[in-house]
Amino acid sequence: MPSDSPDLLQLINETRKYINHLQQLGVDGVGKNSTTFERLQPRETVNTPERALHEIIEPIVRAKVAAQVTTASVDSLFGELAVGAERLCPSGESFEDIHQEIGDCTRCPLHLRRTNVVHTEGNRKARLMFVGEAPGADEDMQSRPFVGRAGQLLTKIIEAIGLKREEVLIGNVNRCRPPGNRPPTFEEASMCKPFLEREIAIVQPEVIVTLGNTALQNLLGATQGITKLRGKFQDYKGIRVMPTYHPAYLLRDPSKKREVWEDLKKVRDHLDNKKSS
Ligand code: URA
Repeated sequence: MPSDSPDLLQLINETRKYINHLQQLGVDGVGKNSTTFERLQPRETVNTPERALHEIIEPIVRAKVAAQVTTASVDSLFGELAVGAERLCPSGESFEDIHQEIGDCTRCPLHLRRTNVVHTEGNRKARLMFVGEAPGADEDMQSRPFVGRAGQLLTKIIEAIGLKREEVLIGNVNRCRPPGNRPPTFEEASMCKPFLEREIAIVQPEVIVTLGNTALQNLLGATQGITKLRGKFQDYKGIRVMPTYHPAYLLRDPSKKREVWEDLKKVRDHLDNKKSS
């Protein structure tokens, strides 16, 4: 891309705003005086300037937040209480209230290139919820989550455990498509995630399946990756969470379907046992 192309200028302007915002949040190591801007040159190993930007800034923000998450704790009479002790309370609001509040959202830079906001869809009394990363091209066009190739595979996975797609709830950490299908940055995810969390508080599903690293790390604040945590139940404010691979990854490496099947059988068994108890 020539250095004076409108796309690049827009990206540089967005980057400046983003870095200012990070500085206001107190994030160290980003800014004009650091080498960040010098490193913003497109490299051969990355596809797009957006991905280059993501690769530079994301680890800085993640490291900062990981430090906060791992040290956060509450002093009590009985010593330290783990952060995970938080529980969900019914909020009294509806999905419609939340979607209205989101509106024609411009809270993060992802709004600049999206076609549609993609809201969580499905059964609002679901026992099971799936959380993915962010819409892709098909979802952006149709304004519905998981309707492209990965979504069709997700529908088959849901049916494999004896459920219909309409019986579960399906959402994403981010509701706008990131350019080039890159993962959302930590800042983009943290702007959008509270809406997902409010929907979870309304529905209070018995199990949430996180699909891939972005959902796992943003919903749980996990610092370990999907290969370490998949297949092992985790906790999100009293709700069981099963981390598994993202269906888009299964499309690239079908040999991983076996592990996803093992993870989903655990989910099915847990739901069956709860029903009969
Ligand atoms: N990938 C996701 O993470 N979410 C979608 O909605 C579609 C593809």
